[in-house]
Amino acid sequence: MRDQFGRRVEYLRISVTDKCNLRCVYCMPFEGLDWLKRESLLSYEEIASVVRTMAGMGLKKVRISGGEPLIRKDLSHLVRLVAEIPGIEDISLSTNAVLLADQAQDLRDAGISRVNVSLDSLQEERVESIARRPGCFDGIMQGLEAAEAVGFDPIKINVVLIGGQNDDEIEDFARITRDRPWHVRFIELMPTGSNLELSADNYVSCQEALAIIRRMGNIEPVEGPAGNGPATYFRFPGAAGTVGVITPMSHNYCDRCNRMRLTADGQLRPCLFGSIQTNLRDPLRAGADLVPLIEETLHIKPERHYLIQGSDEGSGGLVALSQTGG
Ligand code: SAM
Ligand code: SF4
Repeated sequence: MRDQFGRRVEYLRISVTDKCNLRCVYCMPFEGLDWLKRESLLSYEEIASVVRTMAGMGLKKVRISGGEPLIRKDLSHLVRLVAEIPGIEDISLSTNAVLLADQAQDLRDAGISRVNVSLDSLQEERVESIARRPGCFDGIMQGLEAAEAVGFDPIKINVVLIGGQNDDEIEDFARITRDRPWHVRFIELMPTGSNLELSADNYVSCQEALAIIRRMGNIEPVEGPAGNGPATYFRFPGAAGTVGVITPMSHNYCDRCNRMRLTADGQLRPCLFGSIQTNLRDPLRAGADLVPLIEETLHIKPERHYLIQGSDEGSGGLVALSQTGG
């Protein structure tokens, strides 16, 4: 699958639910959102059917995301269905890890090879104040331990930089990669309808983070772990893990974009931002051929995003990244 700018798309991020057990300050409003109705959610069989069609067109990699994917019942059933599809080489998961400890082995056995875990602080009170869910820290730590124990590899830790809330922990996060096989990625906060003030006032660029890390010692640019995503990686000599930066705001990487997104209600989105999406759910339920719709969506994949810090102009009315899988 190639778009009109020559970018090869072989990666689909699938959101299995728009709901979440956390309320991260940069992601979702505290009061939640207008949740999708149950009947509008794609079933696991319907998701697998979309993946099968796209695999026939060149799709190779799938990431399961949300909302929080682990709150949807029996997620490993979906993983098994997707793992059986010829052409799918890699299935990964993005999670907040709160419920991971209980499900890690099952998901690994079903076919998840690697996980990305959101962890915005190493301090219990901060994690819980950023996630706005008291008591979540222990579950996350247990989830991370389980992720290592069952052998997910690589384990990537996503840290959204928030000025005044976690930017004084950049060194602590970087230091951890010397001993633990974690790939810590700092992510620049992106503006959506529910975080405009935060994104205007508390944005920290990854260049600032890298300047702090460079003062800790020599770091070398490295290839980075499996995944082929937008991060740029560095490693302290001899370190077990790496430090990565994801710079959607300061240096957009849209020219390398290799992905599309499927929302929990079956909208195929060629870009995380903007309002372009194609309803695959209704044609799928009507028994229509999805190939022309997928081709058309690929054709209108925008060249780049037009995000502006503190404004929802460029996000196409997106309220929260949890609506699209991030
Ligand atoms: N609940 C899962 C999790 O937190 O990993 C998966 C969904 S979450 C929407 C996917 C990723 O998007 C997470 O790494 C999260 O930190 C990131 N994210 C959410 N809102 C963001 C924002 N406004 N700017 C940057 N990253 C954001
Ligand atoms: Fe939930 Fe993930 Fe959004 Fe946090 S970032 S509110 S864990 S969907």
